[in-house]
Amino acid sequence: MIDYTSQPKDNNFSINKHSLQAVFGIPGVVFYDSVISDNLILLSARLKGKTAKCTCCGKRSKSVHSSYTRKLTDLSVTGRAVKIILKVRKFRCRNSRCSQTVFSEQHLPLTQKYSRLTDRTNRYLQKLLIEVSSRKGEYISDLFSIKQSSSTCLRIVKSIEMPEYQELTTIGIDDWAYRKGKSYGTIIVNALNHRPVELLKSRDKEEVADWLKEHNSILYVTRDRSSSYYNAIKSGASKASQIADRFHLVKNLGDYIAHEIRMEYKTIKSSWLAHRKSLYKSKEDNSSLSSGDSENTSDSQYNKHTNSVSHRKQELFNRIHELKNNNYSQRAIAKALNINRNTVRY
Ligand SMILES: [Zn+2]
Repeated sequence: MIDYTSQPKDNNFSINKHSLQAVFGIPGVVFYDSVISDNLILLSARLKGKTAKCTCCGKRSKSVHSSYTRKLTDLSVTGRAVKIILKVRKFRCRNSRCSQTVFSEQHLPLTQKYSRLTDRTNRYLQKLLIEVSSRKGEYISDLFSIKQSSSTCLRIVKSIEMPEYQELTTIGIDDWAYRKGKSYGTIIVNALNHRPVELLKSRDKEEVADWLKEHNSILYVTRDRSSSYYNAIKSGASKASQIADRFHLVKNLGDYIAHEIRMEYKTIKSSWLAHRKSLYKSKEDNSSLSSGDSENTSDSQYNKHTNSVSHRKQELFNRIHELKNNNYSQRAIAKALNINRNTVRY
C-alpha cells in the first residue's frame, strides 16, 4: 500500500481538468483533481450524473445517502504509478416494494465490484500475464509500476474467459505430463488452428471416449501409436478417421533406425575403424610422396590417435576414482568434472 502522505510536496504539481479528461478519460467518469509527484500520479474522480440505478429493482434514485472512497490502480504514465481515488455515492432506494434500502452506484466501465484495478489495467495485465509465470508476472508488473503479487497474477489469469470454439471437426490427441514420469493427462488440440481445447485429467480410455462422445462433429483425429487412444477413439468417435501424426511417425522411424544401428553395432564399428585406418594410410602416403620419405607410418599415426583417446579415458577414470576416495558423491563428481552423471561409474 502506498503511503500517499509521504510523497514529497515541494515537487508536486497538478494538471487542469481538461487535460486530465484528455489523458485519462473514461466514459462516465469525471476526473476533478490530481497530484503529480516523482513516482506517483494521484487522481481524484467521481461518476457522472445525479442519479443512479438501484442494483436490486433497477429504479433510479437521486436521494444521496452517503459516500465513501475506493483506491484503484490504473495504467502507469511516464513510469509513474497511477492511483485513482474514486468517490462512490450511496443512494436510498425509494421503491417501497424493493428490499434494498441503500445501494452503491455502479462503476462500469471504470472497474468491477471489489476490484482494486481499473478495467483497462485488468485487461492489460491479462494479456501480459498469460505469457509468463506468476512469479515472473510479479516482477514484470512491478517494472510497469502496476505491481501485483504472484497469487494475484494467477487469479487475474484464471479470470480470463475461455474463448468459444466453433464446431470441432479435426483434432489432435496426445498425453502431457503433470509431473514427468509420474502422472499424465490428455491434451486435445484443434488441429485446424493449433489451439488447445481441453485438458483431461488422465489418459484413460474411458475418460477420452466420454469426451469424444460429447463432440460428435469430429471427423479426423490425429494421435500417437498408443493403443489406449486407438481404443478410446474407436469407442467414442467410431466414425472418425484415425491418423498417425507426423511427429510420432518421424519419432518411430528414428527409434527403429537407432535400434537397427545398435543391433549391427559391431559390424558398423569394424567397418568404420577400417575406413578410418585407410584414411590415415592415404594421408600418410600423400605426405610421403611429397616429402620423398618412403617409410610407411600410417599404422603408427592411427595407433597414436587411438592411444590418445584411451589415455584421456584412463585419466578421466583415475580422476573419478580419486574423487570417490575423497568421499565425493556421484552427483558431486559429475559436477566437478563437468560430465553427465550417468558417465560416472565406479
Ligand atoms: Zn430498489
